[in-house]
Amino acid sequence: MSAISLQEMARLRVKAISDNDRLRVLGSYERHDGVHISHTGETYINFSTNDYLGLATHPQMIEAAVNATKRFGVGSGASRYVTGNHPLYTQLEARIAAYKRHESSLVFSSGYAANIAVIPALMGKGDVILADKLSHACMIDGAKLSGARLVRFKHNDVADLEAKLINAKATARNVLVLTETIFSMDGDRAPLGDISDVCKTHDAWLMTDDAHGFGVWLDQPKVGDICMGTLSKAAGSFGGYVAASHDVIECIKQTARPLIFSTALPPSVLAASLEALSYISELSSSKSVENSNSFCEIIGIKPTESAIVPLHVGSEADALLASQKLKDKGFWVNAIRPPTVPVGTSRLRFTFSALHTPTMVQALSKALKELGIVAPT
Ligand SMILES: *Cc1c(COP(=O)(O)O)cnc(C)c1O
Repeated sequence: MSAISLQEMARLRVKAISDNDRLRVLGSYERHDGVHISHTGETYINFSTNDYLGLATHPQMIEAAVNATKRFGVGSGASRYVTGNHPLYTQLEARIAAYKRHESSLVFSSGYAANIAVIPALMGKGDVILADKLSHACMIDGAKLSGARLVRFKHNDVADLEAKLINAKATARNVLVLTETIFSMDGDRAPLGDISDVCKTHDAWLMTDDAHGFGVWLDQPKVGDICMGTLSKAAGSFGGYVAASHDVIECIKQTARPLIFSTALPPSVLAASLEALSYISELSSSKSVENSNSFCEIIGIKPTESAIVPLHVGSEADALLASQKLKDKGFWVNAIRPPTVPVGTSRLRFTFSALHTPTMVQALSKALKELGIVAPT
C-alpha cells in the first residue's frame, strides 16, 4: 500500500473537520476588564468567560502578582521536588484545604493536569471508574490513562449510576465515581447528596470536579472523598488543585506524574491565587448566578443554578451563525460544537460574570429576541 505524505495526511484530517463545520479557529483576544473583550480591533461585551468574578483583572490580584514577580522572578526554575517548591505553595494549599473543608490539598499546574494526575495516581488495572456521561474531557483522559475500566453512567441519573455501581462492585477491586459539581457545558448541578449516598451504600469512592462551582456555588454541600478544581476560572489566576484527606494527598504526592515531571508554577501565580482565596472566602452572595438567573427569566427558560446557560440552536452551522449574529450586535458568545458536546447538541453557551450589569444582561436578551434566536415575550 502506498503511504501518503505527512502533509497530505494533515490536510485530509483538517478538511474532514472543516467539512463538518467543526473547524476551530485560534483567534486573538485581549481583556482589560472582567466584561469586555477586544478582537481584531472591535470591543464586545463578553459572555464567554470563566472569569466569573472579574478577578483576572482585579487591581489587588495584579498587585499581588507583580509584587511576587519583583521579589521572586518570573519562572520557578524547577519542578516542585527539585527546587521549585516556593513557600507560597504551602500557604496556598493550606487555604484551599480549609476552604474546601478537607484535611489537605495539592496544587497542580492546571485543572487538566490535576485530573490526569490524580485519577491515575489512585486507580489502576482491575479497578472500575464510573463517570457521568457529560464529564469533562480531562476526567475521561485521566480515567483512560489510569488503565482502569471506564464505564459511563447517564447524566445525573442516580438510578443508572447505582445499577452500574452494583455491577462494577461484583468484579472490581476498587470503584471511583466521577462527576462535576456544575457541568461545564450545561450549567446544571449534579445531585451531589444522592450520588454521595449511593457511593457510601455500595462502598465506592467519590471524586467531584468543581471547576465551575468554585467561587460560584457558595453553599455547596461537602460530599465525596476527593474534590478537584481550577484556579483559572472564578479564581482569576492559574493552576489546579485537589483536596482530600492527608493519606490520599500523600499518596498522590508520591505517584502523580504531572506533579513530579513538570515545572512548578511561577510565584506570581501562587500569590494571585492566594489573593483570590481571600476574596472568595469572604463572598456572601453569588452575583454571577444572580445575573444568569435574571437572564433565564427574561428569555423565559428554566434557570440553571450556575453562571452557565446553554441555548440549543440546532446544527453546528446554526450555532456558528447565531454566534456571528450576536457578534455583529456587540456580544461575544461562543458556539460550542461536537466533540466538546455530544453530536446534535450544538449550542450557544453564555457565561455570566458578577461584573455584568443588569443593563448588559437586558441588552443581550433583547438582541436574542430581535435576532429570533429566542421567542419574543
Ligand atoms: C476547565 C475545566 C477543567 C480544567 O481546568 P484548567 O485549569 O483550565 O486546566 C477541568 N474540569 C472542568 C469541568 C473544566 O471545566
